[in-house]
Amino acid sequence: MLVVMKAQATPEEVQAVCDQITRLGFRAHPLPGAQRTAIGITGNKGQVEAGSLEELSGVAEVIAVSKPYKLVSRDVKEENTVITFPGTNATIGGRDLAVIAGPCSVESREQVFAAAEQIAKAGGQFFRGGAFKPRTSPYAFQGLGEEALKLLAEVRQEFGLRIVTEAIDSEALELVDHYADVIQIGARNMQNYSLLKAAGRKRKPVLLKRGLAATLEEFLMAAEYVMSEGNYQVILCERGVRTFADHTRNTLDLSIVPAVQRLSHLPIIVDPSHGTGKRNKVLPLARAAVAVGADGLMVEVHHSPDKALSDGAQSIYPAQFEQLMDECSQIANVVHRNIPRGIQITEPAAAR
Ligand code: PEP
Ligand code: MN
Repeated sequence: MLVVMKAQATPEEVQAVCDQITRLGFRAHPLPGAQRTAIGITGNKGQVEAGSLEELSGVAEVIAVSKPYKLVSRDVKEENTVITFPGTNATIGGRDLAVIAGPCSVESREQVFAAAEQIAKAGGQFFRGGAFKPRTSPYAFQGLGEEALKLLAEVRQEFGLRIVTEAIDSEALELVDHYADVIQIGARNMQNYSLLKAAGRKRKPVLLKRGLAATLEEFLMAAEYVMSEGNYQVILCERGVRTFADHTRNTLDLSIVPAVQRLSHLPIIVDPSHGTGKRNKVLPLARAAVAVGADGLMVEVHHSPDKALSDGAQSIYPAQFEQLMDECSQIANVVHRNIPRGIQITEPAAAR
């Protein structure tokens, strides 16, 4: 259910409706929009009695949301969600595209600083690097853990780049929430509902990667899990799905970008690195992702990919990243978007 408030409804009236929803045993999600505030109602206690809400002051109408995802849906919030990073000019979901770049894994100080320097120089705004790695083999490099998170925090300090890194379980989530700017939930965890709910209780933006075999609806329902706990800052990420095609690691499903944008107000970015698994295909698919209307890109960059401890074959060289920024910027302009060059720090970050 969704309560649509009148355009002139006061904050007190919005609060009174939220209180009534809570009294009825449901959860209220006030979602302010440009024209009016809508209040999403969630909970698994059955149907809400519309009558008791319709009569409250400031209420325009109470409507049923027929889709299984509610808070994620454009029915609940028409305008695109734009995620901001206080103290910087970086945004995700607005006219500006977000470019997130960095190595697959954090391996050493030298490695992250070498990558970050080049990425910042080429105009990237976000830095990625795994501290906790979900590897197919238990014998493969599992990540440096908290030590890596500390290095990522140093990167932010040195270059201003905002940090995106994955939480693979609830223990990692606490640490990632402490050190990073964006909490990544990986493809393998897209349906780890307890982790999604735990991330939903955090207040940092969550970057949710599409599961290896997830349908559009399953993907949106995973985002709904995060939002149902009160974290409305979710970024979706297409990273390829399993198909019979074997010329690439995964099949990058670019058609999901406009499909998501039609149904949801959440930003959706594309990861052509995991989406193809091959260095020579990252640039062409990055260009295509921007052309199809993605809200950003996530790409793996390594200064010495042959020596990378994970995903070297799909990691591009810093010079290729520069080319990507240049070409994607031009394509962004064609579709009336923009790739901002570099991050501007408008306010020094609070001590962490
Ligand atoms: C990653 O971003 O390094 C990663 C492991 O991604 P995914 O979850 O998409 O495989
Ligand atoms: Mn990787």
